[in-house]
Amino acid sequence: MHGYSGKILHIDLSERKSWLESKPEKWYQTYIGGVSMATRLCWENITPGCDPLSAENPICLANGIFAGTPVPVGGKFGLASKSPLTGFIGDSLSGSWFSTSFKRAEWDGIVIHGASEDWVTVFVDDDMVEFRDASHLLGLGTTETESAIRDEFGDDQVRTACIGPAGENLGRISNVSNDGRKAGRTGHGAVWGSKKLKGLSMRGTHGVEVADSEELLRLSLDILEAAQGPHTQKYRILGTTSNVLNMNKLGLLPTKNYQEGVFEDAELISGEYLHEHYKAKTIACAQCPIACEQVGWVKEGPYAEAMSHIEYESLFALSSNCGVNDMEAAIKAITNCNELGMDTMSTGVTISWAMECYERGIFTKEDFECERYPEGFEANFGSGMAMVKLTEMIAHRDGYMGDLLADGTQRASTLLDEERDMESYKWAMNIKGLETPGYDARALKTFALGLSVGTRGGCHNRTAAYDPDIKGQVDRFSVDETRGKLAKGTEEYAAVYDTLPLCKFIRRCFTGKADREGAWPAIAKLINATTGWDFDYDDVDLIGERAHTIKKAFNIREGWTRDDDKLPYRWKHEEMTKGPSAESVVTDEELEYLKDLYYEAKGWTPDGLIPKEKLVELGMEDVAEDIGV
Ligand code: SF4
Repeated sequence: MHGYSGKILHIDLSERKSWLESKPEKWYQTYIGGVSMATRLCWENITPGCDPLSAENPICLANGIFAGTPVPVGGKFGLASKSPLTGFIGDSLSGSWFSTSFKRAEWDGIVIHGASEDWVTVFVDDDMVEFRDASHLLGLGTTETESAIRDEFGDDQVRTACIGPAGENLGRISNVSNDGRKAGRTGHGAVWGSKKLKGLSMRGTHGVEVADSEELLRLSLDILEAAQGPHTQKYRILGTTSNVLNMNKLGLLPTKNYQEGVFEDAELISGEYLHEHYKAKTIACAQCPIACEQVGWVKEGPYAEAMSHIEYESLFALSSNCGVNDMEAAIKAITNCNELGMDTMSTGVTISWAMECYERGIFTKEDFECERYPEGFEANFGSGMAMVKLTEMIAHRDGYMGDLLADGTQRASTLLDEERDMESYKWAMNIKGLETPGYDARALKTFALGLSVGTRGGCHNRTAAYDPDIKGQVDRFSVDETRGKLAKGTEEYAAVYDTLPLCKFIRRCFTGKADREGAWPAIAKLINATTGWDFDYDDVDLIGERAHTIKKAFNIREGWTRDDDKLPYRWKHEEMTKGPSAESVVTDEELEYLKDLYYEAKGWTPDGLIPKEKLVELGMEDVAEDIGV
């Protein structure tokens, strides 16, 4: 086989042993790589119904088909486990040189079973697996951990994925870091922490064999040239932070825990303001010529030396959504999350939930007391200082509040409502337990559907259904019979990129159009030059449907029902009062109608289950046996 080694590495932390599994070519042609293959590995290796923080929940990594090749933006891998935040599939992507070392070590996937009794790091050095004591790394931040491990080996080719203190403390909104990039959402850090796995390091010394290296290089150079032209210009200059003003103008910028979609100080937290006053440099993921990551740096004042890459989703969550107009506090809070190993989005949305509780008088200053801040503090919307302090408290589970918020809005609101007989779930902004993204879905009806049915919860990246709404392809304020097919099409389109994986920001660099017609034939050529297969447009299109289907199948096996496809209470019952998106909600009637359309478009039953014939048609016969109806 070209492009793959044909080998999956299994590592057992309980028994401290490892073994090899070979997979047939057909398996690779069905699941390809990234989030799809990682989910398939979960499907094969998990104990269904297990506690996500138990030894029965494996950590599954699957490399990208183009990692280690010249293909631009192809240096990514997928990471999946059962999510401790949602109880369903937790699948993430990350783009770093870790994926190159992974490829050069000649493994297509890694499954980490069991749990260690003592804290360890695992070092995979080509085909050797070593278990190393990690006690001296405990408490270190993610950058410090990666540096310490690299120094121990004295070799820059050793690349590490690791957790920070938040993962060690089993925070369900913690994540996994590698080369400063994140497998960010659904609580992977807690899964690693539950296994006492502080880090996974890789060194690979092999070349990557592809079927037609000359053709692959020629295709890659064409994409490289296009990636430095007008199709990626907006990403190269401001990155995704340009969304702040765009979303504000549309009345969709989450403000004060999604109470409004217009933030009066949006200019002060905009990408333009960041660029002018705080930009230190731009950085890129592995194999990326675009370099969309804007690094913000605070030079002086209370947050001096805070420095982090800043993306829109981190920025909305840790500024406007907390009512904070202080860019320096936002940079500091994002830096804290990244260094302590937490999902910026879930952390920001969880803090904004706590701020709303404080404003409503449910929490008092005393609730924020902890060893670090024995006097407690005020936590009104707009307090950058409170936001920053809370990021530290959450990572370390400091005090009542740090412990409560470390597990995200769903668990925090459930606990609070039981303890104090409140209804704070009404402003707990999550879907299936995963905190919602930076687009208010009340006035984006196709997107609302895409989010509600999403397999990993409130995630914009896995649906992309905001596109037809925002571009005016449909009326974003109303529903009609086209939305089921649109939501299916956008989620499967996104799933192709997440499976290869290729960064979606390259999508216009094939023919100038960000659609299937433009990209799929070009992607088929890349796959064929890498593997020697004979993929065409339809084969590429199927990658997305299969990837989405295996994730959905995983969720069904874990007990998913139609009622799990829902939206936060606020989006269904409370209107915004300001801006062009004011007075919109998604009613229960609209949502149920949209779900009917979507299940029908997918070829599923009205209950959202998958018929056996559908699974067989997709080449998933064993899955059909298990969950097909
Ligand atoms: S465009 Fe941005 S997110 Fe995409 S691979 Fe490049 S640096 Fe990473």
